[in-house]
Amino acid sequence: MEQGPARDAASAVSATGTPIARNAPTASFGISIYKLMTLNRATLPSFRLTERCEWRWIFSALMLTLVATSASGQPVTRPDTVALVGGTVIDVVSGSRMGRSTVVFAGDRIIGVGAAGLTRPPQGARVVNVSGKFIIPGLWDMHVEQALPLWNRAPVDSNAGFFHPLFLAYGVTGVRDVAGPLAVLKLWSAETERGVRIGPRLVYTGPKIGMGPVAPGAPFPITNEADVARSLALLKEGGASGAYILELDQALYPALMRGAKAVALRVEGNIPYTTTLWAASANGQRVVDHLDALLPSSSPDEGSIRRAQRLADEKPWWARLAWRVGAMRPPKDAPTLPLESWSAARANSLFVHLAANHTYQVPTLRLLGTVNRSADSAIRLPPPPLELRAPRHPSDGWPSAPYPSSHPVARMHDKLVWSVGAMHRAGVPILAGSDTPNLYAAPGLSLHDELALLVRAGLSPLDALRSATLRPAEFLGATDTLGTVGVGKVADMVILDADPTVNIAASRQIAYVVARGRVYNRAALDSLRARGVAMAAEIARYWVAKRGAGK
Ligand SMILES: [Zn+2]
Repeated sequence: MEQGPARDAASAVSATGTPIARNAPTASFGISIYKLMTLNRATLPSFRLTERCEWRWIFSALMLTLVATSASGQPVTRPDTVALVGGTVIDVVSGSRMGRSTVVFAGDRIIGVGAAGLTRPPQGARVVNVSGKFIIPGLWDMHVEQALPLWNRAPVDSNAGFFHPLFLAYGVTGVRDVAGPLAVLKLWSAETERGVRIGPRLVYTGPKIGMGPVAPGAPFPITNEADVARSLALLKEGGASGAYILELDQALYPALMRGAKAVALRVEGNIPYTTTLWAASANGQRVVDHLDALLPSSSPDEGSIRRAQRLADEKPWWARLAWRVGAMRPPKDAPTLPLESWSAARANSLFVHLAANHTYQVPTLRLLGTVNRSADSAIRLPPPPLELRAPRHPSDGWPSAPYPSSHPVARMHDKLVWSVGAMHRAGVPILAGSDTPNLYAAPGLSLHDELALLVRAGLSPLDALRSATLRPAEFLGATDTLGTVGVGKVADMVILDADPTVNIAASRQIAYVVARGRVYNRAALDSLRARGVAMAAEIARYWVAKRGAGK
């Protein structure tokens, strides 16, 4: 299936929801009226903190407008204009750096980037001195599941209070969400777009196809082409930018690909047991998560490996019976089955195939390293602080006892890590995703772990940065507004104390975050972090208590 740039561009408008983008009013009064109109009573009461900040901001914006206009009678600099002066802008496209720069933005949009000597901050602009610091585009975490219940059947509304401030505190200004109810994700997305909710930009796929109904009233299980069409229509209606596929009958896979194309939804996610990575890529699946089916498809025995893995995974009654009576041997260590016939030559031709089809990969190395209990301390990172982890069952400890390097799972993990570097060298586009909050990931912080692991797998620090900036913008078909620091781009930036293209660890040394044109200094970032941590504690207290009471 063809999924060229034109189609991406079409879906990107709704995906990134950038109405502010193209026709943003240039007069300060215009933006204030716009803000006032979008903040109606119906949207305000449930977000008290946000509400207070926004009204204060609007009030000061109006005051500044009145003062400035009455003084000169001329069009004036918008009161929300900010100039970052003296920093080094990193161009993630070319890798070049512009030292001693001035970056000017008004509201949500960058309006000037140049050498400090040539670009002067507009009169009246708020000047932020960032001398000696490094400016990169806002980071995207391309695999997040923030709208699932954190605790049994806990409601997910309160999740936002945990995830959103933490993402921003760690420079994550955009996320691709691949789980959770469409209605909640649609609301969060709309409210962050309107500025009534503080949080990262949000694109989402909603519930996974093959896991359950994708929306209330959606057919499940999906048994015919009409079910596929209905599910895709509901995803589209719910504002999803793609359909995340987990499992689907082989006969229905063509209908999914056709139907998704018809409603301009990307097909994303895993590789159903009924197909192969080779076929999914050829058929136009846009992105594959978790390196799914990568090792089987790097083996000539792909078909039999997948069948055995499916059996081990699904354990149908007849197989369980056959295993019990000894008529069949249960598949041992199903995930590591591909090790026996894995071939570097076949892997390399697979990577050429993926690159030719421009099939993106979200390796989620952080997640896989944890699942596979990698013994390499550089791969199996220290756990994030408890306070930053999703409030879940207290017995959810950090897995101990890593596998020795000779263990099949350790050898399998080595192959996966090698594959990421080799795919990158072959030209397969890589996206950074943490799978927050799964397997102990912390919102925001764990994306920096993923960047470090991508470097470890063979990407340069610049390429790792690209996987969270430029590549997501390309994936979303939104390079006109996202992914780089340039005129016309959204004002989402991270300002670092050290150069991340020299050492990726510098991505954690965050001095400022700019999100939708709002500047968060270190103190503001710390208070965002504190808000997220406090909400995590509150959710835990509430649900532990409920659980303790036997509910
Ligand atoms: Zn996931």
